Amino acid sequence: MNSRGGLEEMKALILKLEEKRMLDREEFVRLIGWRAARLGRAAGSPGEQEGSPVGSPLPDPAVAGKSTGGAAQNDAGKSTGGAAQNVAGKVTGEAARDVAGNVTGGAAQNVAGKVTGEAAGNFAGESTGQVAQKAVGNAAGGADGEGEALDAFLFDRADRVRKAIYGNKVYIRGLIEFTNYCRNNCYYCGIRRGNGRASRYRLTEEEILACCRSGYELGFRTFVLQGGEDPYHTDDRVVKLVAAIRAEFPDCAITLSIGEKSRESYQRFYDAGADRYLLRHETADDAHYRRLHPPELSLENRRRCLWDLKEIGYQVGCGFMVGSPWQTVGCLAQDLMFIGELEPHMVGIGPFIPHRDTPFAQCEGGTAEMTLFLLGVCRLMLPEVLLPATTALGTALADGREQGIKAGANVVMPNLSPGNVRKKYLLYDNKICTGDEAAESLQSLREHMAGIGYEVAVDRGDHKKYI
Ligand code: SAM
Repeated sequence: MNSRGGLEEMKALILKLEEKRMLDREEFVRLIGWRAARLGRAAGSPGEQEGSPVGSPLPDPAVAGKSTGGAAQNDAGKSTGGAAQNVAGKVTGEAARDVAGNVTGGAAQNVAGKVTGEAAGNFAGESTGQVAQKAVGNAAGGADGEGEALDAFLFDRADRVRKAIYGNKVYIRGLIEFTNYCRNNCYYCGIRRGNGRASRYRLTEEEILACCRSGYELGFRTFVLQGGEDPYHTDDRVVKLVAAIRAEFPDCAITLSIGEKSRESYQRFYDAGADRYLLRHETADDAHYRRLHPPELSLENRRRCLWDLKEIGYQVGCGFMVGSPWQTVGCLAQDLMFIGELEPHMVGIGPFIPHRDTPFAQCEGGTAEMTLFLLGVCRLMLPEVLLPATTALGTALADGREQGIKAGANVVMPNLSPGNVRKKYLLYDNKICTGDEAAESLQSLREHMAGIGYEVAVDRGDHKKYI
């Protein structure tokens, strides 16, 4: 068999995936690599292999030595205090010290305003600028039409599988981005603590309840509370908030997406009335994880959290960004293997999009095409999964949400946050927050979904195993 494989071989792999709901790792590599090659990402390199890049690829070692690490380090020394104050300004006591105490590295990037302090150090002299220069392109589609032919085949299979279980229903979740304070410093994220330019906010409990009330009126029966890991939001505060929402909206699902906590904390939130938890694993490849995060964060803990959440009884969502820097075909195969192992109820898959005030500012974003492809693959692996067409996909592609639904997604998460803070929850540049992305535009969303043959449901939209 030709190692690059032909269209028919890829279709056969898709049919096998549909039947078995799993492939082995080598098969995932072949399938993803084949599609990536037709986007120009994996092309040119040895072919559809493990190490072929999907995200901005590894910098050329010959030029990596010219990194800006040194300069950034100089700036880091001067900037620690200012940035710390910026992030910790509204945090009190212990929490402030905790944030401030850890902020040194992250500050570098704010002052340097170009490439990273901590990232440069962590990547052993590789600069993100070099990565951008080495990017192999972000082709909009396959030149030979074979890629699109495989997409059409996959999306048709995925659509059938989804319709057999959920019909043509699209489930909506009201997204309340209630705080953009974060103690973490993930290199890709616009609300990382080291971003001194972020305009920080947090909503009060009363403001959050007001969002739920207007969401309920609009027809939302799931509220997703998402935020950075904000030290102000102690377990006691989260428990009180969840209990208040549970008491006022007994017929609604409450989803939390507030990061890594202890098992005890997760249990307390669950006991207070939370039903679901979203925690993307980000990447299931340990070396890749370490390139996206500072040393204090680990894949091991992220995975521990997901297993704890599942054991407690939450409907659990993991997920990953497509095209994050240094992502390879092998990384994505690893993501799918992990998803097969965890069997989550939800999976969040969206393209990486750079944010100008992060260490990855100069990196190339992931493609909508590869994101759509992986949504289709995910639907075949987990027929009952609740799969959002993400805001990032809608940002990368004008009709990304509709395309996502057609590829196998069945969830959209319009923004219920108050209008004056929406632009502040800026995880990446140009994040959309108006138009159909806004909860108040639900009628328009309904019409767009009806236009492609789907119906927006007014119910909690639980995973089949929880109905
Ligand atoms: N703090 C919570 C957590 O850690 O899960 C929730 C908030 S976090 C900002 C939500 C998700 O945003 C992350 O899991 C990540 O995948 C995504 N995200 C962050 N920066 C991004 C970027 N530059 N492009 C695309 N997605 C991004």
